[in-house]
Amino acid sequence: MATPCFHKDMIRFESPAEADKAAGSCEDCVKIGARWVHLRMCLTCGHVGCCDSSPNRHARAHAMSERHPLVTSYEPGETWRYCFVDDVYVK
Ligand SMILES: [Zn+2]
Ligand SMILES: [Zn+2]
Ligand SMILES: [Zn+2]
Repeated sequence: MATPCFHKDMIRFESPAEADKAAGSCEDCVKIGARWVHLRMCLTCGHVGCCDSSPNRHARAHAMSERHPLVTSYEPGETWRYCFVDDVYVK
């Protein structure tokens, strides 16, 4: 059984619009000229960063440095939410 997530009260943002996702980019990667694989959005402040399959893992870095554990996929067609701290998908 997975550990439940107790961070859901940190969710301040709704799921992003599909049009926004299609035009999304990881600003931290753009700044350093790096590439990313997939995008994730912080559900606490709206920061968009790259996924754990990307070389720089900016979404996880943001989650840890800002203590914003919950992200949602910023990929078109994907709506799942995930907690970096608890390592579980949340509804
Ligand atoms: Zn959690
Ligand atoms: Zn990045
Ligand atoms: Zn954040």
